[in-house]
Amino acid sequence: MRKILIAIDGPAGSGKSTTAKLVARRLGYVYIDTGAMYRAMTLKVLTSKVDPANEQGVTELAKKTEISFVEGSDLRVMLDGADVTDAIRSEDVNGNVSLISSYPDVREIMVAKQRAIGAGKGCVMDGRDIGTVVFPDAELKFYMIADIMERAKRRQEELSDNGVELPIHQVVKELKERDRKDSTRDNSPLKKADDAIELDTTKLTIEEQVEIVLNYARDINVGSEGSVGKEEMQRK
Ligand code: C5P
Repeated sequence: MRKILIAIDGPAGSGKSTTAKLVARRLGYVYIDTGAMYRAMTLKVLTSKVDPANEQGVTELAKKTEISFVEGSDLRVMLDGADVTDAIRSEDVNGNVSLISSYPDVREIMVAKQRAIGAGKGCVMDGRDIGTVVFPDAELKFYMIADIMERAKRRQEELSDNGVELPIHQVVKELKERDRKDSTRDNSPLKKADDAIELDTTKLTIEEQVEIVLNYARDINVGSEGSVGKEEMQRK
């Protein structure tokens, strides 16, 4: 079967990562969470002596940073050889990641890594600029959206799983702020590619989201086997 590249973009909490992960598993594809790469870079800045506002210092640090993924029962994110999968979900990282990812040179370094991974096809990649900048020629592109309250509830649950309890109004405020920064930056802003399929996940179950993407993939003759197990359907 022909292997393709599937790009899934959209704001935080729109359902991209959950969907991308399960679609990749079903197709036997590699899953790349590009947000995790910007988060890992942000964590590195926050644990270094470099001021996040120092663009040149951050860029220099990015040049000396190794970010990779290890696939197992779940996707582990490695920063300079250390597993940072949980650490990159902190509030501190949430608050600084939009600034770090707005630096053009940092993006250039990350995009080069993303293109190298995706070049072999057979890949589902999610982020903000995959269909517009990283892989404008991706065979299949989705732009996921959802109501702000639904997105906030999902994000609140994710934070709670990581031991952080925040009131919903604060989560809404943070999401809106990140949306604003991500979609108004000069370099690779969050926006729907002209040829992306828009998917509103507000009222969809995870199973439905996954099936919609798989159906499009089947339509362009990728092929897939079996059905997604119920245990995989939980967002956690
Ligand atoms: O997807 P996630 O919410 O984990 O992404 C964290 C942040 O990383 C985003 O808010 C955005 O600032 C940045 N990002 C980006 N480009 C991508 C993926 C994420 O700028 N392709």
